[in-house]
Amino acid sequence: MSKRDYYEILGVERGADQKEIKKAYRRLAQKYHPDRNPDDSSAAEKFREVSEAYEVLTDDEKRAAYDQFGHAGVDGEAGGGFGAGGFGGAGAGGFSDIFGDVFGDIFGGGGRRHPNAPQRGSDLRYNLELDLEDAVAGTSVDIRVPRHVECGRCDGDGAEPGSTKETCPTCGGHGQVRMQQGFFAVQQTCPTCHGSGQHIKVPCHECHGEGRVRETRTLSVKIPAGVDTGDRIRLNGEGESGINGGPPGDLYVQASIKPHPIFQRDGRHLQCDVPINFVDAALGGELEVPTLDGRVKLKIPPETQTGKLFRLKGKGVKPVRGGAPGDLLCKVVVETPVKLNEEQKELLRKFQESLGENNSHSPKKSSFFDGVKKFFEDMKP
Ligand SMILES: [Zn+2]
Ligand SMILES: [Zn+2]
Repeated sequence: MSKRDYYEILGVERGADQKEIKKAYRRLAQKYHPDRNPDDSSAAEKFREVSEAYEVLTDDEKRAAYDQFGHAGVDGEAGGGFGAGGFGGAGAGGFSDIFGDVFGDIFGGGGRRHPNAPQRGSDLRYNLELDLEDAVAGTSVDIRVPRHVECGRCDGDGAEPGSTKETCPTCGGHGQVRMQQGFFAVQQTCPTCHGSGQHIKVPCHECHGEGRVRETRTLSVKIPAGVDTGDRIRLNGEGESGINGGPPGDLYVQASIKPHPIFQRDGRHLQCDVPINFVDAALGGELEVPTLDGRVKLKIPPETQTGKLFRLKGKGVKPVRGGAPGDLLCKVVVETPVKLNEEQKELLRKFQESLGENNSHSPKKSSFFDGVKKFFEDMKP
């Protein structure tokens, strides 16, 4: 979508002075204010557009850049808030919610916030994929977390060191504006200064006036034994830094366990399929089955049917919130032999003959055919 010309948006001449721009902005901002047009989403868009145009054209530096280079001159520069930078680009995890940040203040919420009041930083979420073995045993993982931290150049102030700030022209330094709605006057956080009450004349070169910069930090996270998909580990104070000296948010590391080639996890229990040949199944025997801490022997009784579950007590997962470890359920899967040579096939034919017509060797088969017989008899009129 190509952006409209800022002068056109405000309906002013290119040579318009600050007074004319402010007047045009006030008129349009009141006209398109979301509270006055609750059911019109295009009004919200116009309001945003008008505020952005105002922000650029009342900033001498940005206006000069815009006059010379057009939108390319100001886009990507984090302005007081509506600019392209600053709020978007949440990086890999898609951390902070763009609309929550920008519009939360305008559409209600935050209406009573004091200018310059400390604000807690946003919480962040990091999705961490873990191998089952690590999740069960516990581990320590280094993660790289992109987040906003207070700008070191301006100490979070947003103004270039040595420069002065002036009172915000929209709200006269109150950080709040009054909007008339029928009989009611509503206080809103000032859309121009976002409640700070001040207008930064020379934005800090490092953070472009936002007071915060993006930084990627490597954090070592201790993963307790037994975590499961959906568990969250909170790291206090490792979220986004606060605003106006507010405390930082928290970082939530959300675990998700990768599928395992052998084991399926169901809470504290594990399950695995154990293939056995039909001779072992018939005669019984000893199988080696895998557990998370090595192989163990499992005795299979004679006449074991496919699908039979064997429970190895305590070979599951110790829950992260404490309690006894779960079990490992081994599901026997009887395999049909393949790639038989003539001699082996002959042995099987002989074996089959020895069984005769007697179904008592096949417990399921006999009850199955009894059932089928009854089914067809019941259908007869
Ligand atoms: Zn203001
Ligand atoms: Zn700065």
